Amino acid sequence: MEPPCVHITTYGCQMNQLDAELVAEVLRASGARLAADADEADVLLFLTCSVRGHAEDRVFSNIGALKARKQREPDLIIGLLGCMAQQYGPALRRRAPLVDLVCAPGRLAELPDLIVEARRGRRPVALDPVRTEGGPETLAKADEALDRAEVRRPLCGSSPGQAYVVAVRGCDNFCSYCVVPHVRGPERSRAPSAILDEVRRLVGQGARQITLLGQAVNQYAAVEGGRRWDLADLLQAAAETPDLARLAFITNHPRAFDERLAAVFRNVSKVCSYLHMPAQSGSDAVLARMNRRYTAAEYLDRVAMVRQARPDVAVASDFIVGFPGETPADFEATMDLVRRARASAAFVFKYSPRPGTMAAERYPDDVPAEEKRRRHAALLALVEEISGEENAKFVGRRVRVFVEDLAPRPKLNERGRPGDRLNGGVQLRGRTPCNRIVVFDGPPCLVGAEVDVEVKHSSPLTLFGSIENPGARRA
Ligand code: SAM
Ligand code: SF4
Repeated sequence: MEPPCVHITTYGCQMNQLDAELVAEVLRASGARLAADADEADVLLFLTCSVRGHAEDRVFSNIGALKARKQREPDLIIGLLGCMAQQYGPALRRRAPLVDLVCAPGRLAELPDLIVEARRGRRPVALDPVRTEGGPETLAKADEALDRAEVRRPLCGSSPGQAYVVAVRGCDNFCSYCVVPHVRGPERSRAPSAILDEVRRLVGQGARQITLLGQAVNQYAAVEGGRRWDLADLLQAAAETPDLARLAFITNHPRAFDERLAAVFRNVSKVCSYLHMPAQSGSDAVLARMNRRYTAAEYLDRVAMVRQARPDVAVASDFIVGFPGETPADFEATMDLVRRARASAAFVFKYSPRPGTMAAERYPDDVPAEEKRRRHAALLALVEEISGEENAKFVGRRVRVFVEDLAPRPKLNERGRPGDRLNGGVQLRGRTPCNRIVVFDGPPCLVGAEVDVEVKHSSPLTLFGSIENPGARRA
């Protein structure tokens, strides 16, 4: 059998982006070729997300569009991986009959064998033991296989110099709207030694910024070497890695944010001035129905705690608008929370009932679509307004920028719209330690390095600056 030529399409969160790197490396190590263009591949893999109905619909529609190609090329293998695989299991085939191979998030290390099986016409389905069968030992075995695959994975992230590292897998919070605990299994923290080894290895390969990942990363809890580790311990230890410039961690659950983590912002300079801590709502009644287990006042206390430790921290959040029973007054409470927290970035989602979740079973989806759209737009506009005000404070200042990539074409003007105002050279895009996007003219060799930039203009989403002596500033 010829080695397969594989194309991967990825949907969803950072955890999926990291899983895509892992899949690519596991397949490469097994002799497969990876194709940038789906038309060249004979195995098409879809790494999917189940968090909202819309994300699932896109996957079903993209797979459905392959019908004619599958008829022309009967040997073409279509694989559906990740959260949707776990959510639907073999039942997926009813809605997506073209799918030959189904593989859940914890079984990705087995993909080379699953592809061989699929090419022999066996249509394999590999699901996680998760919460139903198998128990903790089976789950631990699957995690070990993923950890071994991580060790093989060279730095291959989309932005040179930046890498994600898993700290916590799964989730036990069971927010009433959320499918993640059902598809990614129970919360388990990786051993600190495995994480720290991975950080050192990635920095040895050139990473300068590491982001630790977990659905509630600040619930990290491990026992190793006769001691307990929490996220504060882990960040302190990781920050000692020589040549590592920046350390970030996402996502934080407000209930678990404590003084120890706030102290890390005060004491560990490599930790970025950026706290992604989703509030989801500013109404206590809605938060209770969401099973978030904190109040709006407690959320704001946590924000005050971190700002006391590091005044320039940028707070980013997620919100769901149109949750069942959300009244106009509840929504106003959310707007109020955003104003008080001065949240300068937010992912805002319209509520989408997910099968099997408590909210879908208990509460009717009773906020009309038009009202969800209105609240979505109003909340985004408010966050953009705050972000614009915060960005304007940077004009005239010098900021340290981690250069991620070339800026997208065409060049952006100082309102952040496509334009041609900044002429000459290549336009680069990077981020401040508080995660603000900065674009400036400079040589491509700066990608993956840190550089000082003078901020000249700002827009709500972008800072525009310049460097004095581009050639001499690679740090
Ligand atoms: N673990 C993270 C946390 O606790 O905030 C995020 C998990 S989820 C992958 C990312 C975001 O999707 C959530 O913060 C929430 O705002 C949104 N989300 C989750 N379930 C949703 C649903 N049923 N409808 C709309 N948005 C949803
Ligand atoms: Fe979902 Fe809540 Fe877990 Fe985040 S903390 S993954 S929103 S259940």
